[in-house]
Amino acid sequence: MDVRNCKNCGKLFNYTGEPICPVCAKELEDKFFSVRDYIYANPTASMSTVAEEMEIPIQQIKKWVRQERLSFSKDSGMSIDCEVCGKPILTGRYCKECKMQMTNKLSGMYSHEEKHSSKQTKVSSNGKMRFLGN
Ligand SMILES: [Zn+2]
Ligand SMILES: [Zn+2]
Repeated sequence: MDVRNCKNCGKLFNYTGEPICPVCAKELEDKFFSVRDYIYANPTASMSTVAEEMEIPIQQIKKWVRQERLSFSKDSGMSIDCEVCGKPILTGRYCKECKMQMTNKLSGMYSHEEKHSSKQTKVSSNGKMRFLGN
């Protein structure tokens, strides 16, 4: 069994691939829904306002945006940078152009399906599952 210290509260927990313990994961999940609601209710709020109002690090908001769990509306004026070219994007990691280029490259490189690692199935604390692949 792999036991680690939670990155958030420091308590020991059974490591399952997440850096934080189930209690903190649950709290973060709750926070996510409040932040999402807040952004829906205040579509023009800036990222720093959201961070301040929700008492959440901007880094965490960006993380959710990168994971495509949150996305900014066009009129929010909020954006994050494409990890390749730095162009402002509303959600995810790459802009459309870079995504397209990558897909082209990938489909040329891999003719068969990539191996399904345990990383590809994410189960969050509220039981929602996200399958990639399949
Ligand atoms: Zn914890
Ligand atoms: Zn790009």
